[in-house]
Amino acid sequence: MVRTRTGRHFLQLPGPSNVPDRVLRAISRGTIDHRGPDFPALTRALIEGLRAVFRTDSAVVMYPASGTGGWEAALVNTLSPGDRVLMFETGQFALNWIHVARRFGVHVDVIETDWRRGADPALLEERLRDDRGHTFRAVALVHNETSTGAMTRIAEARRAINRAGHPALLLVDAVSSVGCMDYRHDEWGVDVTIAASQKGLMLPPGLAFLAISAKAQAASRTAALPRSYWDWNPMLASNADGFFPYTPSTNLLFGLRESLAMLEEEGLEQVFCRHARYGRAARSAVQAWGLSTQCERADEQSDVLTTVVMPQGHDADRFRGLVHDRFNMSLGTGLGKLKGRVFRIGHVGDFNDLMLAGTLAGVESGLALSGVPIRRGGVDAALRSLEQS
Ligand code: PLP
Repeated sequence: MVRTRTGRHFLQLPGPSNVPDRVLRAISRGTIDHRGPDFPALTRALIEGLRAVFRTDSAVVMYPASGTGGWEAALVNTLSPGDRVLMFETGQFALNWIHVARRFGVHVDVIETDWRRGADPALLEERLRDDRGHTFRAVALVHNETSTGAMTRIAEARRAINRAGHPALLLVDAVSSVGCMDYRHDEWGVDVTIAASQKGLMLPPGLAFLAISAKAQAASRTAALPRSYWDWNPMLASNADGFFPYTPSTNLLFGLRESLAMLEEEGLEQVFCRHARYGRAARSAVQAWGLSTQCERADEQSDVLTTVVMPQGHDADRFRGLVHDRFNMSLGTGLGKLKGRVFRIGHVGDFNDLMLAGTLAGVESGLALSGVPIRRGGVDAALRSLEQS
């Protein structure tokens, strides 16, 4: 096998996504004093920009962390030991969040799924209606399950909670949807939204964000889980003056200012349309190959990644290895129980039609070279889909 290292590496993971040159240049500036006079203007601009992306007028905080830190922050600021939380096991990330909650002594009721769909709003409503004593303190959902490519319809989940008349907090992992898929923290009545830097926000990994409703802020006053680093109250207090309670990731914040400017210049609606086009085009390719996506429901397909099921007897990671060596392209691996059974094509962030075409060409050729029985013509189908929209 010829290993190809020439040209630019195709980083087609569903995060970390490709970091635009503009953002890389912004990050490479000299670090400034985070307790100095120039910092408050930066902090305030970032909070304003993030509010626009989360679509919220509420508080937004930034932690030097990955998305997993965001999960922990959402839990420890709102819950107490023994609190009941309702969660859906829609995939590996939902499962990981469930594990974090349990490690803190939170009692998690899990609704299992077959990992081929999002959380079912009807089931959510039924479980909340049955909880007449309102013992669930929170409902925690993953918006875009990056291990499966299936999305949970958060607006419908909110309506289900309202129909059940349940006061539970709504915590949403939007790690792989904020900045690339339609997301509305305020309109959907979300209490805590968690996001991270390395997906739609087009930054390297290293920043986690929370948008926090007034109801969640009130909950934090009585929440008794142990917290120190993740406590959002000192963060909110320092941010009000434009500072941080501890050293922030200064250079990533420079990058964030640039990526927020890029999202604003393109316009969020346009950003969402662009990703929806990639999602449709990638699924046309999968269909043309005669393969299937892990997500079974048409109305829950993710716009930012396509998870492809390998035919029986073919190992997805061997195929990924071939694609890596032959085409200098990284595709996402199958996670948890999907290991070896699926591969994930990321089409998120700083991306265009020809990058998608190149990515799908590498996948199609890699499948053929791996001896996977496919029909050719997936790239063609994707191009036609792109031409039509
Ligand atoms: N939630 C979702 C939906 C994710 O896709 C990821 C990571 O890919 C995480 C949470 C965990 O984030 P991190 O790996 O940044 O800790």
